[in-house]
Amino acid sequence: MNVDLNIIERLISEVLDESEIREELISPAVREDGTAGIFPTMDEAVEASAAAAGELAERGMQDREAYIKAIRETIQNEEVLEKISREAVDETRIGCYEHKRIKNRLAAVKTPGTECLVTEAVTGDNGMMITEYCPFGVIGAITPTTNPTETVINNSISMIAGGNTVVFSPHPRAKGVTAYLVSRLNQALAAAGAPENLITTVAEPSIENTNRMMEHPLVRMLVATGGPSIVHKVLSSGKKAIGAGAGNPPVVVDETADIKKAAADIVAGASFDNNVPCIAEKEVFAVSAIYEDLILEMKAKGAYEVSDPEDIRRLLAMVTKENGGVRVEFVGKSAAYILEKLGLVPASRDIRLIIVRTAADHPFVTEELMMPILPVVQVNDVDEAIDNAKIAEHGNRHTAMIHSRNIETMSKMARILDTTIFVKNAPSYAGIGAGGEGHTTFTIAGPTGEGLTSARSFCRRRRCTVADAFNIR
Ligand code: NAD
Repeated sequence: MNVDLNIIERLISEVLDESEIREELISPAVREDGTAGIFPTMDEAVEASAAAAGELAERGMQDREAYIKAIRETIQNEEVLEKISREAVDETRIGCYEHKRIKNRLAAVKTPGTECLVTEAVTGDNGMMITEYCPFGVIGAITPTTNPTETVINNSISMIAGGNTVVFSPHPRAKGVTAYLVSRLNQALAAAGAPENLITTVAEPSIENTNRMMEHPLVRMLVATGGPSIVHKVLSSGKKAIGAGAGNPPVVVDETADIKKAAADIVAGASFDNNVPCIAEKEVFAVSAIYEDLILEMKAKGAYEVSDPEDIRRLLAMVTKENGGVRVEFVGKSAAYILEKLGLVPASRDIRLIIVRTAADHPFVTEELMMPILPVVQVNDVDEAIDNAKIAEHGNRHTAMIHSRNIETMSKMARILDTTIFVKNAPSYAGIGAGGEGHTTFTIAGPTGEGLTSARSFCRRRRCTVADAFNIR
Protein backbone atom coordinates (compact mmCIF):
# COMPACT_ATOMS: atom_id res chain seq x y z
CA MET A 1 0.00 0.00 0.00
CA ASN A 2 1.27 3.43 -0.95
CA VAL A 3 0.98 5.68 2.14
CA ASP A 4 1.88 9.37 2.10
CA LEU A 5 3.66 9.95 5.44
CA ASN A 6 3.21 13.72 5.13
CA ILE A 7 -0.55 13.34 5.06
CA ILE A 8 -0.51 11.05 8.10
CA GLU A 9 1.71 13.44 9.99
CA ARG A 10 -0.63 16.37 9.19
CA LEU A 11 -3.69 14.37 10.27
CA ILE A 12 -2.05 13.40 13.57
CA SER A 13 -1.07 16.97 14.30
CA GLU A 14 -4.59 18.20 13.46
CA VAL A 15 -6.11 15.63 15.83
CA LEU A 16 -3.66 16.61 18.56
CA ASP A 17 -4.34 20.32 18.06
CA GLU A 18 -8.03 19.71 18.22
CA SER A 19 -7.80 17.60 21.35
CA GLU A 20 -5.76 20.36 23.03
CA ILE A 21 -8.46 22.85 22.16
CA ARG A 22 -11.16 20.44 23.41
CA GLU A 23 -9.22 19.97 26.64
CA GLU A 24 -9.24 23.72 27.22
CA LEU A 25 -12.90 24.02 26.33
CA ILE A 26 -14.06 21.12 28.44
CA SER A 27 -12.16 21.72 31.63
CA PRO A 28 -14.02 24.72 33.13
CA ALA A 29 -17.43 23.07 33.33
CA VAL A 30 -16.31 20.32 35.67
CA ARG A 31 -14.57 22.69 38.04
CA GLU A 32 -16.31 23.21 41.31
CA ASP A 33 -14.40 26.32 42.31
CA GLY A 34 -17.02 28.69 40.94
CA THR A 35 -15.48 29.08 37.51
CA ALA A 36 -17.45 26.48 35.53
CA GLY A 37 -18.62 28.13 32.34
CA ILE A 38 -16.68 31.36 33.07
CA PHE A 39 -14.04 32.27 30.48
CA PRO A 40 -11.31 34.91 30.38
CA THR A 41 -12.27 36.05 26.88
CA MET A 42 -15.51 36.27 24.92
CA ASP A 43 -13.98 34.26 22.06
CA GLU A 44 -13.34 31.36 24.43
CA ALA A 45 -16.84 31.60 25.92
CA VAL A 46 -18.39 31.49 22.44
CA GLU A 47 -16.15 28.67 21.17
CA ALA A 48 -16.93 26.57 24.25
CA SER A 49 -20.62 27.28 23.70
CA ALA A 50 -20.37 26.19 20.05
CA ALA A 51 -18.70 22.93 21.08
CA ALA A 52 -21.49 22.37 23.60
CA ALA A 53 -24.15 23.12 20.95
CA GLY A 54 -22.63 20.41 18.75
CA GLU A 55 -22.90 17.91 21.59
CA LEU A 56 -26.41 18.97 22.56
CA ALA A 57 -27.53 18.34 18.98
CA GLU A 58 -26.71 14.66 19.53
CA ARG A 59 -28.96 14.41 22.60
CA GLY A 60 -32.71 13.79 22.71
CA MET A 61 -35.70 15.77 23.95
CA GLN A 62 -35.83 13.78 27.20
CA ASP A 63 -32.21 14.73 27.82
CA ARG A 64 -33.07 18.41 27.38
CA GLU A 65 -35.91 18.00 29.88
CA ALA A 66 -33.53 16.37 32.36
CA TYR A 67 -31.16 19.34 32.03
CA ILE A 68 -33.99 21.82 32.55
CA LYS A 69 -35.12 19.86 35.60
CA ALA A 70 -31.60 20.24 36.99
CA ILE A 71 -31.81 24.03 36.51
CA ARG A 72 -35.25 24.22 38.16
CA GLU A 73 -34.10 22.14 41.14
CA THR A 74 -30.87 24.08 41.58
CA ILE A 75 -32.68 27.41 41.84
CA GLN A 76 -35.20 25.97 44.31
CA ASN A 77 -32.37 24.79 46.52
CA GLU A 78 -32.67 27.13 49.53
CA GLU A 79 -28.96 27.89 49.70
CA VAL A 80 -28.79 28.90 46.03
CA LEU A 81 -32.07 30.82 46.08
CA GLU A 82 -30.99 32.75 49.15
CA LYS A 83 -27.54 33.51 47.75
CA ILE A 84 -28.55 34.71 44.29
CA SER A 85 -31.43 36.79 45.67
CA ARG A 86 -29.27 38.45 48.33
CA GLU A 87 -26.21 38.95 46.13
CA ALA A 88 -28.28 40.46 43.31
CA VAL A 89 -29.46 43.18 45.70
CA ASP A 90 -26.06 43.63 47.38
CA GLU A 91 -24.12 43.86 44.12
CA THR A 92 -26.47 45.91 41.93
CA ARG A 93 -27.93 47.88 44.87
CA ILE A 94 -31.27 47.49 43.13
CA GLY A 95 -34.47 45.91 44.40
CA CYS A 96 -35.61 43.98 47.41
CA TYR A 97 -34.37 40.58 48.64
CA GLU A 98 -37.79 39.04 49.41
CA HIS A 99 -39.11 39.99 45.98
CA LYS A 100 -35.96 38.75 44.20
CA ARG A 101 -36.64 35.38 45.83
CA ILE A 102 -40.16 35.34 44.41
CA LYS A 103 -38.95 36.36 40.96
CA ASN A 104 -36.09 33.83 40.86
CA ARG A 105 -38.42 31.05 41.97
CA LEU A 106 -41.03 32.10 39.46
CA ALA A 107 -38.44 31.97 36.65
CA ALA A 108 -37.38 28.48 37.76
CA VAL A 109 -40.87 27.06 38.12
CA LYS A 110 -43.00 28.76 35.47
CA THR A 111 -40.65 29.13 32.50
CA PRO A 112 -41.90 26.47 30.08
CA GLY A 113 -39.61 23.71 28.81
CA THR A 114 -39.76 21.57 25.69
CA GLU A 115 -43.55 21.15 25.87
CA CYS A 116 -44.10 24.32 23.87
CA LEU A 117 -42.20 22.94 20.87
CA VAL A 118 -45.27 21.36 19.29
CA THR A 119 -44.69 19.89 15.85
CA GLU A 120 -47.21 20.98 13.22
CA ALA A 121 -48.30 18.43 10.60
CA VAL A 122 -50.23 18.79 7.37
CA THR A 123 -51.37 15.80 5.34
CA GLY A 124 -53.08 15.67 1.96
CA ASP A 125 -53.16 13.86 -1.36
CA ASN A 126 -49.50 14.76 -1.88
CA GLY A 127 -48.30 13.18 1.33
CA MET A 128 -47.23 14.73 4.62
CA MET A 129 -45.35 17.81 5.74
CA ILE A 130 -44.17 18.59 9.25
CA THR A 131 -42.82 21.83 10.65
CA GLU A 132 -40.54 21.54 13.67
CA TYR A 133 -38.96 24.01 16.08
CA CYS A 134 -35.20 23.55 15.76
CA PRO A 135 -32.19 25.16 17.44
CA PHE A 136 -30.29 28.19 16.16
CA GLY A 137 -27.09 27.00 17.92
CA VAL A 138 -25.22 29.54 20.02
CA ILE A 139 -27.33 32.42 21.34
CA GLY A 140 -25.74 35.59 22.72
CA ALA A 141 -27.94 37.00 25.50
CA ILE A 142 -27.53 40.42 27.12
CA THR A 143 -29.09 40.74 30.57
CA PRO A 144 -30.25 43.76 32.62
CA THR A 145 -29.20 44.99 36.07
CA THR A 146 -32.83 45.01 37.14
CA ASN A 147 -33.40 41.24 36.72
CA PRO A 148 -29.84 39.89 36.56
CA THR A 149 -30.45 36.35 37.83
CA GLU A 150 -34.10 35.99 36.81
CA THR A 151 -33.15 36.61 33.18
CA VAL A 152 -30.28 34.10 33.29
CA ILE A 153 -32.59 31.42 34.75
CA ASN A 154 -35.44 32.17 32.37
CA ASN A 155 -33.31 32.49 29.23
CA SER A 156 -31.25 29.38 30.07
CA ILE A 157 -34.37 27.22 30.44
CA SER A 158 -36.03 28.55 27.28
CA MET A 159 -32.90 28.46 25.14
CA ILE A 160 -31.74 24.98 26.21
CA ALA A 161 -35.31 23.68 25.80
CA GLY A 162 -35.03 24.92 22.21
CA GLY A 163 -31.80 22.92 21.78
CA ASN A 164 -29.50 25.95 21.93
CA THR A 165 -26.60 26.94 24.11
CA VAL A 166 -26.25 30.44 25.55
CA VAL A 167 -23.44 32.91 26.15
CA PHE A 168 -24.44 35.62 28.63
CA SER A 169 -23.16 39.16 28.56
CA PRO A 170 -24.37 40.67 31.83
CA HIS A 171 -24.17 44.25 33.01
CA PRO A 172 -20.75 44.80 34.69
CA ARG A 173 -22.61 45.79 37.86
CA ALA A 174 -24.05 42.25 38.08
CA LYS A 175 -20.93 40.29 37.16
CA GLY A 176 -20.36 38.56 40.51
CA VAL A 177 -23.85 37.17 40.98
CA THR A 178 -24.09 36.22 37.29
CA ALA A 179 -20.78 34.36 37.44
CA TYR A 180 -21.87 32.49 40.57
CA LEU A 181 -25.18 31.51 38.99
CA VAL A 182 -23.64 30.43 35.66
CA SER A 183 -21.04 28.28 37.38
CA ARG A 184 -23.61 26.78 39.79
CA LEU A 185 -25.93 25.90 36.91
CA ASN A 186 -23.04 24.35 34.96
CA GLN A 187 -22.18 22.15 37.91
CA ALA A 188 -25.81 21.01 38.19
CA LEU A 189 -25.97 20.39 34.44
CA ALA A 190 -22.76 18.36 34.54
CA ALA A 191 -24.24 16.25 37.33
CA ALA A 192 -27.31 15.68 35.16
CA GLY A 193 -25.08 14.39 32.35
CA ALA A 194 -25.36 17.48 30.15
CA PRO A 195 -22.61 18.54 27.77
CA GLU A 196 -20.26 21.00 29.43
CA ASN A 197 -20.67 24.73 28.85
CA LEU A 198 -24.32 24.83 27.84
CA ILE A 199 -24.25 28.19 29.64
CA THR A 200 -21.17 30.39 29.50
CA THR A 201 -20.10 33.94 30.27
CA VAL A 202 -16.95 36.04 30.67
CA ALA A 203 -15.13 36.83 33.89
CA GLU A 204 -15.11 40.58 33.12
CA PRO A 205 -18.24 41.73 31.33
CA SER A 206 -17.87 44.97 29.38
CA ILE A 207 -19.26 46.79 26.36
CA GLU A 208 -16.23 45.54 24.38
CA ASN A 209 -17.09 41.95 25.29
CA THR A 210 -20.73 42.48 24.31
CA ASN A 211 -19.57 43.92 20.99
CA ARG A 212 -17.30 40.94 20.43
CA MET A 213 -20.16 38.55 21.22
CA MET A 214 -22.43 40.34 18.76
CA GLU A 215 -19.95 40.13 15.92
CA HIS A 216 -18.65 36.60 16.61
CA PRO A 217 -19.45 34.41 13.58
CA LEU A 218 -20.40 31.43 15.78
CA VAL A 219 -23.19 33.41 17.51
CA ARG A 220 -26.33 32.76 15.47
CA MET A 221 -28.88 34.78 17.40
CA LEU A 222 -28.83 37.77 19.75
CA VAL A 223 -31.28 38.48 22.54
CA ALA A 224 -31.21 41.82 24.36
CA THR A 225 -33.20 42.37 27.54
CA GLY A 226 -32.65 46.00 28.51
CA GLY A 227 -33.16 49.61 27.56
CA PRO A 228 -33.43 51.28 24.14
CA SER A 229 -29.68 51.53 23.47
CA ILE A 230 -28.90 47.81 23.62
CA VAL A 231 -32.13 46.82 21.86
CA HIS A 232 -31.27 49.18 18.99
CA LYS A 233 -27.76 47.77 18.90
CA VAL A 234 -28.74 44.11 18.53
CA LEU A 235 -31.40 44.99 15.97
CA SER A 236 -28.70 46.74 13.91
CA SER A 237 -26.31 43.78 14.14
CA GLY A 238 -27.26 42.07 10.90
CA LYS A 239 -28.06 38.89 12.85
CA LYS A 240 -31.37 37.39 13.87
CA ALA A 241 -32.17 39.36 17.03
CA ILE A 242 -34.85 39.54 19.68
CA GLY A 243 -35.29 42.85 21.48
CA ALA A 244 -36.99 43.03 24.87
CA GLY A 245 -37.01 46.74 25.59
CA ALA A 246 -38.15 49.42 27.99
CA GLY A 247 -41.68 50.02 29.18
CA ASN A 248 -43.48 52.76 31.09
CA PRO A 249 -46.70 50.96 32.03
CA PRO A 250 -49.74 53.16 32.74
CA VAL A 251 -52.70 52.23 34.93
CA VAL A 252 -56.22 53.49 34.30
CA VAL A 253 -58.84 53.46 37.07
CA ASP A 254 -62.44 54.30 36.20
CA GLU A 255 -65.55 54.93 38.31
CA THR A 256 -66.80 51.34 37.95
CA ALA A 257 -63.70 49.81 39.58
CA ASP A 258 -63.58 48.16 42.99
CA ILE A 259 -61.51 51.00 44.45
CA LYS A 260 -60.23 49.15 47.54
CA LYS A 261 -58.98 46.30 45.37
CA ALA A 262 -57.60 48.63 42.70
CA ALA A 263 -55.65 50.55 45.36
CA ALA A 264 -54.28 47.34 46.91
CA ASP A 265 -53.30 45.92 43.49
CA ILE A 266 -51.62 49.12 42.34
CA VAL A 267 -49.60 49.49 45.56
CA ALA A 268 -48.59 45.81 45.41
CA GLY A 269 -47.51 45.96 41.74
CA ALA A 270 -45.82 49.37 41.87
CA SER A 271 -43.81 48.55 45.00
CA PHE A 272 -42.81 45.03 43.92
CA ASP A 273 -39.00 44.79 43.79
CA ASN A 274 -38.97 48.57 44.35
CA ASN A 275 -40.66 49.17 40.97
CA VAL A 276 -37.80 47.92 38.76
CA PRO A 277 -39.75 45.31 36.75
CA CYS A 278 -40.32 46.63 33.24
CA ILE A 279 -43.99 45.63 33.64
CA ALA A 280 -44.52 47.46 36.97
CA GLU A 281 -47.12 50.24 37.30
CA LYS A 282 -45.29 53.51 36.52
CA GLU A 283 -48.15 56.08 36.45
CA VAL A 284 -51.87 56.16 37.27
CA PHE A 285 -54.69 58.00 35.49
CA ALA A 286 -57.79 58.03 37.68
CA VAL A 287 -61.15 59.63 36.91
CA SER A 288 -62.32 62.51 39.14
CA ALA A 289 -65.28 60.59 40.57
CA ILE A 290 -63.00 58.14 42.42
CA TYR A 291 -59.69 60.05 42.53
CA GLU A 292 -59.73 61.04 46.21
CA ASP A 293 -61.04 57.63 47.31
CA LEU A 294 -58.29 55.89 45.37
CA ILE A 295 -55.58 58.01 46.99
CA LEU A 296 -57.08 57.41 50.44
CA GLU A 297 -57.18 53.65 49.87
CA MET A 298 -53.64 53.61 48.48
CA LYS A 299 -52.44 55.33 51.65
CA ALA A 300 -54.25 52.69 53.70
CA LYS A 301 -52.30 50.04 51.77
CA GLY A 302 -48.82 51.44 52.45
CA ALA A 303 -48.46 54.45 50.14
CA TYR A 304 -47.07 57.73 51.46
CA GLU A 305 -48.18 60.91 49.75
CA VAL A 306 -45.61 63.65 49.19
CA SER A 307 -47.94 66.63 48.90
CA ASP A 308 -46.00 69.78 49.69
CA PRO A 309 -45.10 71.45 46.33
CA GLU A 310 -41.60 72.27 47.57
CA ASP A 311 -41.05 68.63 48.65
CA ILE A 312 -42.25 67.45 45.23
CA ARG A 313 -39.81 69.84 43.53
CA ARG A 314 -36.95 68.61 45.75
CA LEU A 315 -37.89 64.99 45.12
CA LEU A 316 -37.83 65.58 41.36
CA ALA A 317 -34.46 67.33 41.54
CA MET A 318 -33.08 64.50 43.70
CA VAL A 319 -34.06 61.50 41.54
CA THR A 320 -33.89 62.89 37.98
CA LYS A 321 -31.20 64.67 36.00
CA GLU A 322 -31.63 68.24 34.79
CA ASN A 323 -31.36 67.32 31.13
CA GLY A 324 -33.59 64.24 31.43
CA GLY A 325 -33.19 60.67 32.66
CA VAL A 326 -33.09 59.23 36.14
CA ARG A 327 -30.26 59.24 38.65
CA VAL A 328 -29.04 55.63 38.73
CA GLU A 329 -28.30 55.79 42.45
CA PHE A 330 -32.05 55.92 43.15
CA VAL A 331 -33.13 53.16 40.74
CA GLY A 332 -34.55 50.21 42.67
CA LYS A 333 -34.17 51.86 46.10
CA SER A 334 -36.90 51.47 48.71
CA ALA A 335 -39.52 54.14 49.44
CA ALA A 336 -38.09 54.46 52.97
CA TYR A 337 -34.60 55.14 51.58
CA ILE A 338 -35.85 57.79 49.16
CA LEU A 339 -37.94 59.52 51.84
CA GLU A 340 -35.02 59.50 54.24
CA LYS A 341 -32.74 61.08 51.63
CA LEU A 342 -35.43 63.71 51.13
CA GLY A 343 -35.50 64.40 54.85
CA LEU A 344 -39.07 63.20 55.35
CA VAL A 345 -39.93 60.75 58.10
CA PRO A 346 -43.25 58.95 57.61
CA ALA A 347 -45.30 58.15 60.70
CA SER A 348 -45.55 54.49 59.71
CA ARG A 349 -42.58 52.20 59.12
CA ASP A 350 -44.54 50.12 56.59
CA ILE A 351 -44.32 52.55 53.71
CA ARG A 352 -43.89 50.66 50.43
CA LEU A 353 -44.59 53.35 47.86
CA ILE A 354 -44.43 57.12 47.44
CA ILE A 355 -47.36 58.71 45.62
CA VAL A 356 -47.49 62.21 44.16
CA ARG A 357 -50.39 64.11 42.54
CA THR A 358 -49.06 65.43 39.24
CA ALA A 359 -50.13 66.69 35.82
CA ALA A 360 -50.03 64.27 32.89
CA ASP A 361 -46.85 65.80 31.44
CA HIS A 362 -44.82 65.75 34.68
CA PRO A 363 -41.41 64.01 34.43
CA PHE A 364 -42.58 61.49 37.04
CA VAL A 365 -45.10 60.40 34.40
CA THR A 366 -42.96 60.64 31.30
CA GLU A 367 -39.72 59.09 32.65
CA GLU A 368 -39.35 55.34 33.27
CA LEU A 369 -38.31 55.96 36.89
CA MET A 370 -37.85 52.35 38.09
CA MET A 371 -38.18 53.40 41.74
CA PRO A 372 -41.23 53.34 44.05
CA ILE A 373 -42.48 56.84 43.20
CA LEU A 374 -45.88 56.70 41.53
CA PRO A 375 -47.55 59.78 40.04
CA VAL A 376 -51.36 59.77 40.25
CA VAL A 377 -53.00 62.00 37.64
CA GLN A 378 -56.62 63.17 37.90
CA VAL A 379 -58.65 63.13 34.67
CA ASN A 380 -62.26 63.98 33.84
CA ASP A 381 -63.33 60.69 32.34
CA VAL A 382 -62.05 57.32 31.20
CA ASP A 383 -61.51 58.42 27.58
CA GLU A 384 -59.16 61.14 28.79
CA ALA A 385 -57.45 58.54 31.00
CA ILE A 386 -56.91 56.17 28.06
CA ASP A 387 -55.63 58.97 25.80
CA ASN A 388 -53.14 60.05 28.46
CA ALA A 389 -52.11 56.45 29.11
CA LYS A 390 -51.36 56.03 25.41
CA ILE A 391 -49.10 59.12 25.44
CA ALA A 392 -47.32 58.11 28.68
CA GLU A 393 -46.58 54.64 27.30
CA HIS A 394 -44.47 56.30 24.56
CA GLY A 395 -45.43 53.74 21.93
CA ASN A 396 -43.33 51.05 23.64
CA ARG A 397 -46.40 48.78 23.36
CA HIS A 398 -45.06 46.97 26.44
CA THR A 399 -47.56 46.70 29.34
CA ALA A 400 -50.69 48.47 30.59
CA MET A 401 -53.23 47.92 33.36
CA ILE A 402 -56.87 48.86 33.91
CA HIS A 403 -59.14 48.65 36.94
CA SER A 404 -62.73 48.69 35.75
CA ARG A 405 -65.88 46.58 35.60
CA ASN A 406 -66.89 47.95 32.22
CA ILE A 407 -66.10 45.40 29.51
CA GLU A 408 -66.35 47.96 26.71
CA THR A 409 -63.89 50.28 28.43
CA MET A 410 -61.47 47.42 29.03
CA SER A 411 -61.67 46.31 25.40
CA LYS A 412 -61.25 49.86 24.18
CA MET A 413 -58.10 50.43 26.22
CA ALA A 414 -56.67 47.06 25.15
CA ARG A 415 -57.15 48.00 21.50
CA ILE A 416 -55.85 51.56 21.80
CA LEU A 417 -52.80 50.85 24.01
CA ASP A 418 -51.85 47.87 21.80
CA THR A 419 -49.43 46.53 24.43
CA THR A 420 -47.79 43.09 24.62
CA ILE A 421 -49.25 42.62 28.12
CA PHE A 422 -52.61 44.02 29.23
CA VAL A 423 -53.73 43.29 32.79
CA LYS A 424 -57.27 43.83 34.03
CA ASN A 425 -58.11 44.15 37.75
CA ALA A 426 -54.84 42.73 39.09
CA PRO A 427 -51.30 43.82 39.93
CA SER A 428 -48.96 44.06 36.92
CA TYR A 429 -47.14 40.84 37.84
CA ALA A 430 -50.28 38.81 37.12
CA GLY A 431 -49.29 39.50 33.50
CA ILE A 432 -46.18 37.32 33.82
CA GLY A 433 -47.98 34.47 35.53
CA ALA A 434 -47.61 35.53 39.20
CA GLY A 435 -51.20 35.30 40.42
CA GLY A 436 -52.39 35.20 36.79
CA GLU A 437 -52.68 32.43 34.21
CA GLY A 438 -49.98 31.74 31.66
CA HIS A 439 -46.27 31.10 31.62
CA THR A 440 -43.52 33.32 32.98
CA THR A 441 -40.80 35.11 31.12
CA PHE A 442 -38.32 37.81 32.02
CA THR A 443 -37.68 38.65 28.36
CA ILE A 444 -40.79 40.35 27.01
CA ALA A 445 -40.08 40.98 23.36
CA GLY A 446 -42.35 43.84 22.35
CA PRO A 447 -40.20 45.53 19.69
CA THR A 448 -39.60 42.32 17.73
CA GLY A 449 -43.01 40.79 18.43
CA GLU A 450 -42.22 37.45 20.07
CA GLY A 451 -44.11 38.70 23.13
CA LEU A 452 -43.65 36.63 26.27
CA THR A 453 -40.73 34.55 25.08
CA SER A 454 -40.45 30.77 25.56
CA ALA A 455 -38.44 27.96 23.92
CA ARG A 456 -40.36 28.50 20.69
CA SER A 457 -39.08 32.08 20.39
CA PHE A 458 -35.51 30.81 20.22
CA CYS A 459 -36.07 28.25 17.48
CA ARG A 460 -35.90 28.09 13.70
CA ARG A 461 -38.91 26.62 11.97
CA ARG A 462 -37.90 23.86 9.59
CA ARG A 463 -40.07 21.94 7.16
CA CYS A 464 -39.72 18.22 6.39
CA THR A 465 -41.82 16.78 3.56
CA VAL A 466 -42.51 13.26 2.48
CA ALA A 467 -44.24 13.11 -0.90
CA ASP A 468 -47.05 10.65 -1.60
CA ALA A 469 -46.85 8.91 1.78
CA PHE A 470 -48.15 9.07 5.35
CA ASN A 471 -51.51 10.50 4.40
CA ILE A 472 -53.38 7.64 6.02
CA ARG A 473 -56.90 9.05 5.86
P1 NAD B 1 -29.54 48.91 30.28
O1 NAD B 1 -30.12 49.12 28.92
O2 NAD B 1 -28.74 49.99 30.87
O3 NAD B 1 -28.62 47.60 30.27
C1 NAD B 1 -29.09 46.36 29.80
C2 NAD B 1 -27.91 45.53 29.33
O4 NAD B 1 -27.42 46.07 28.11
C3 NAD B 1 -26.73 45.53 30.29
O5 NAD B 1 -26.12 44.25 30.27
C4 NAD B 1 -25.81 46.59 29.72
O6 NAD B 1 -24.47 46.33 30.09
C5 NAD B 1 -26.05 46.42 28.25
N1 NAD B 1 -25.87 47.62 27.43
C6 NAD B 1 -26.60 48.76 27.53
N2 NAD B 1 -26.20 49.63 26.58
C7 NAD B 1 -25.21 49.03 25.87
C8 NAD B 1 -24.41 49.40 24.77
N3 NAD B 1 -24.54 50.58 24.17
N4 NAD B 1 -23.49 48.51 24.31
C9 NAD B 1 -23.35 47.30 24.89
N5 NAD B 1 -24.09 46.89 25.94
C10 NAD B 1 -25.01 47.74 26.42
O7 NAD B 1 -30.77 48.52 31.21
P2 NAD B 1 -30.81 48.16 32.76
O8 NAD B 1 -30.84 49.39 33.56
O9 NAD B 1 -29.82 47.12 33.07
O10 NAD B 1 -32.25 47.50 32.76
C11 NAD B 1 -33.41 48.27 32.80
C12 NAD B 1 -34.03 48.48 31.42
O11 NAD B 1 -34.31 47.25 30.80
C13 NAD B 1 -35.35 49.21 31.53
O12 NAD B 1 -35.51 50.10 30.46
C14 NAD B 1 -36.36 48.09 31.49
O13 NAD B 1 -37.65 48.48 31.06
C15 NAD B 1 -35.71 47.16 30.50
N6 NAD B 1 -36.13 45.78 30.68
C16 NAD B 1 -36.93 45.21 29.75
C17 NAD B 1 -37.36 43.92 29.93
C18 NAD B 1 -38.25 43.25 28.94
O14 NAD B 1 -38.48 42.05 29.07
N7 NAD B 1 -38.78 43.95 27.96
C19 NAD B 1 -36.97 43.18 31.06
C20 NAD B 1 -36.12 43.80 31.99
C21 NAD B 1 -35.71 45.09 31.79
